[in-house]
Amino acid sequence: MNDKATFPVHKTEEEWRKELTSQQFHVLREHGTEHAGTSPLNDEHRPGLFRCAACGQELFNATTKYDSCSGWPSFFKPLDGAIGTSVDNRHFMRRTEVHCARCGSHLGHVFPDGPEPTGLRYCMNGVSLKFEPV
Ligand code: FE
Repeated sequence: MNDKATFPVHKTEEEWRKELTSQQFHVLREHGTEHAGTSPLNDEHRPGLFRCAACGQELFNATTKYDSCSGWPSFFKPLDGAIGTSVDNRHFMRRTEVHCARCGSHLGHVFPDGPEPTGLRYCMNGVSLKFEPV
């Protein structure tokens, strides 16, 4: 996320720390990455919605989830207007960072090696998501 950007949902670092687990805070608010293969959402195949674990905004429909074999929950398309992106030059790579459009929390990255119809792979930290089955 762009630290200077403002989002509809804004909370102080202290408020986020109170609401989130330490792992959620690290990934969502400090641009962390969960260890590959650790999210229970990798094996989530039911229909439903994936929401932002920080603010609850709907981010992905389960119909756009696929198994990328990366060890992280992956999707080929977000819901309209749900996410924002920024350039991430960390770790000597140029990647596209993905964050929640409503609260700015870091979700993961998007790569141009996904399946049709978008050709995109939204590689998400499971800890950044909350699944709501329908
Ligand atoms: Fe959010």
